[in-house]
Amino acid sequence: MSEFMLAANALSGFDAMAATDAYIATMDAAARERSDAYFEGGYWLILLNLLAGLAMAYLLLQTGISKSLRDRISAIVKLKSLTIAVYAALYTLVTTLILFPLTLWQSYFREHSYGLSTMSLGGWLGEQAIGLAMGMVMAAIFLTIFYLVLRIAKSAWWIWGAGVSVILLAVAIFVSPVYIDPLFNQYDPMEQGELRDDILALAEANGIPANDVYVFDVSRQSNRITANVNGLFGTTRIALSDTLIDNTDPDEVLSVMGHEMGHYALNHLWEMFIMFAVILAIGFAFTDRVFSFLNHRFGKNWGVDGISDIAGLPLLAASLSIFFFLATPVLNTVIRTNEAEADLFGLNAAREPDGFATAALRLAAYRKIDPGVWEEFVFFDHPSGRARVFMSMQWKAGQLAIGADDQTPDLRLDRARDISDALTEGGDAAVQP
Ligand SMILES: [Zn+2]
Repeated sequence: MSEFMLAANALSGFDAMAATDAYIATMDAAARERSDAYFEGGYWLILLNLLAGLAMAYLLLQTGISKSLRDRISAIVKLKSLTIAVYAALYTLVTTLILFPLTLWQSYFREHSYGLSTMSLGGWLGEQAIGLAMGMVMAAIFLTIFYLVLRIAKSAWWIWGAGVSVILLAVAIFVSPVYIDPLFNQYDPMEQGELRDDILALAEANGIPANDVYVFDVSRQSNRITANVNGLFGTTRIALSDTLIDNTDPDEVLSVMGHEMGHYALNHLWEMFIMFAVILAIGFAFTDRVFSFLNHRFGKNWGVDGISDIAGLPLLAASLSIFFFLATPVLNTVIRTNEAEADLFGLNAAREPDGFATAALRLAAYRKIDPGVWEEFVFFDHPSGRARVFMSMQWKAGQLAIGADDQTPDLRLDRARDISDALTEGGDAAVQP
């Protein structure tokens, strides 16, 4: 802790560290055990998914499935770009089917066993089917353009490929609220009332051009609380989940909306595009080397004629997945740093430190509350519960020190204890106050 932080604590007589400990201590052992087990299981899933992906790539290459798929398609459609589009769509279909048992266990049964999903098997399968159809179309469009860049840019493909990928990602994010999000959730204007007025006032105070607030029905998928402020090229949409409105108090809602507005006001999306382009360029350069090495060394039967050959897509995807596996701590830290910035923005905007602290406790339904320093560095793409509660309490200490008259030293430990009880019970009660 820095001297500067201690000064605020001494001046205000409010001990941020003790307040943080008091909040964390409301979570009983059973609630913590459940939360830790879910989140730590996720560490192993990162490895398991990598290995499953690598095994699948080996299967597609070694059995000759990939090269014969390319040959059969090109015999029928002739045109190179069309061959790539058809291959990309079929590749998406085949890989989704091969990995389906793992997906079913991971995203359906495991989520249910921790009481995080509210979906029936039928409903879940329906969403998977929509996702697959969309994935096939998007893969066909994206990979046709990507392989065109590969052929034109030759050895400089890694840098052009990164640029084009990020531009296509921006297009996908831009069209998503109109064409993709409504396939999974219904968006309705939020009911008139004090909370809606407060959210719009908060937006106006922070330079966010929005006249309306939307509610989307996350409760049909899970009981997670979530919200977003989307905006690219002058379009802005403030949206929050029905679970957030129904299961939390208004001060918690405002603190969460303040965080989301922070992402918008701080231009995090544009910053992420630039960061992601740089990381992706490094990833493609890595992929280029690994691809050539593996293809020369082991590719006798693969029939893959260099990186721009679509039959090498399983190898390209496998090489890139190794890169992203190794880059996990870097990617997480880039995202987590932005999240912490949005946290601080949200505290300043909404001025609800106890609302934000208990909202952070609620997220323990699926995020370990109090990890070690290295654990947080490697695995966390958002600040941990402890980090968020401490930031909130430190903010409060500073406000009390300067005599802000809308702040009091009181904590909302009663509410925190109710959250712990709900977490212990799990199931649909997990995020109910
Ligand atoms: Zn965020």
